Amino acid sequence: MRLYEYEGKLLFKKYKIPIPQSALIDDLSELDKVTYPVVLKAQVFIGGRGKKGVIKIANTRKEAESIIKNMLGKKVDGYEVKKVLAEEKVDIEHEFYTSAAIDRILHQPLIIAAKEGGIEIEEISRKHPSSISKHYLEVGERPADWVGRSVAQSMGLTGELLVQAGSIINNVYNLFLDFDCKLVEINPLVLTKTGTLVAIDSKLDLDEDAMYRHPALKELGIEARHEVGELTSRERLAKVAGIPYVELDGDIGVFPGGAGFGIASIDLIHHFGGKAANFMDSGGAPTQENLRLMLGLLMDNPNVKVIFGARFGGISRCDDWANAVVQYVIENKPKKPMIMRMAGNMEEEGRKIFDKANKDYPALFKNIKVYKFDTPIEEVIKEAVKTAKKVVSS
Ligand code: GDP
Ligand code: MN
Repeated sequence: MRLYEYEGKLLFKKYKIPIPQSALIDDLSELDKVTYPVVLKAQVFIGGRGKKGVIKIANTRKEAESIIKNMLGKKVDGYEVKKVLAEEKVDIEHEFYTSAAIDRILHQPLIIAAKEGGIEIEEISRKHPSSISKHYLEVGERPADWVGRSVAQSMGLTGELLVQAGSIINNVYNLFLDFDCKLVEINPLVLTKTGTLVAIDSKLDLDEDAMYRHPALKELGIEARHEVGELTSRERLAKVAGIPYVELDGDIGVFPGGAGFGIASIDLIHHFGGKAANFMDSGGAPTQENLRLMLGLLMDNPNVKVIFGARFGGISRCDDWANAVVQYVIENKPKKPMIMRMAGNMEEEGRKIFDKANKDYPALFKNIKVYKFDTPIEEVIKEAVKTAKKVVSS
């Protein structure tokens, strides 16, 4: 879970990482606490805010008011600005970069530092590759004092600044460890004209699954949340229910057995000229409730024209699957056609459930086809692709 800059800075404060004086503004009256000049920073999860026009300097309250009025409610790359951080303006001598992160290839945590900061790390590594240094740590290891200092030395610092930077770097790393972070980044770490170091920006990414271990976050007002602007409403619903579900830009809803087949069926759909509307995984033996929710996600997605489903009963049972589908259809009377195949564990029982439903509710099940194992899955997918095209043209 990404944190807003101001939330990250609350944690910085706790870890004695120097930050500028600031006030969080979601209402103009809060400007009473501010002195000028002030830097006004929109709180949104994007980098490069300066370039996108949502970091501005105000020299008077009047200027600040007009900038903030303009920022609040504005959408930047899909994110709505709800809060603005008003920060004491710092006079910058030099911008450095430092972070604690996880090397996903080596499966090892590390400290990254660069002599040149203020631009994104990817850009630093393109423009100034030799300015970057890395220090790897063992999982769970605390950095000794010399580690921070040695990193600070690689940033070209000496004397008192080296000691200051060394402790900032170690504090960043301790924060990273203590709060199960995936990333703690200061970019830029600024050397001011008066000769001290200040974290001008914060970027933190927490492991959502570990948040329960950190009641201190709640005390700081940092609550687990979904990243609005990233997930669709249906993706959020799925997430709450623990169903892996990602929307794509096609029109064939995929209601697969498991993740592997889900991916393979997306490939097959595209191979036969269609476009999948989603990835989804029911995982293991899904409950009836989750199966119905999964169908609901596809039915509610306005882009979905037809549903392709496949159940290979292994751990899960075809009759459970059939029951869930039938009950969903009876309760919700969906209009979208469903082209599916069911095979494997308890197939006969499952088939009886569909046969009965067909007999009892012929109108409801008229557009629902459930093929047997003797129809190759390619044929089922081709029919789904054809059906989606028909729905488009009709
Ligand atoms: P980001 O662009 O979203 O990463 O936002 P940052 O907080 O990193 O700010 C971007 C840039 O704005 C910094 O690299 C600085 O050059 C500039 N900036 C931010 N705060 C201040 C400040 O207090 N004083 C000055 N002079 N520049 C600032
Ligand atoms: Mn930044």
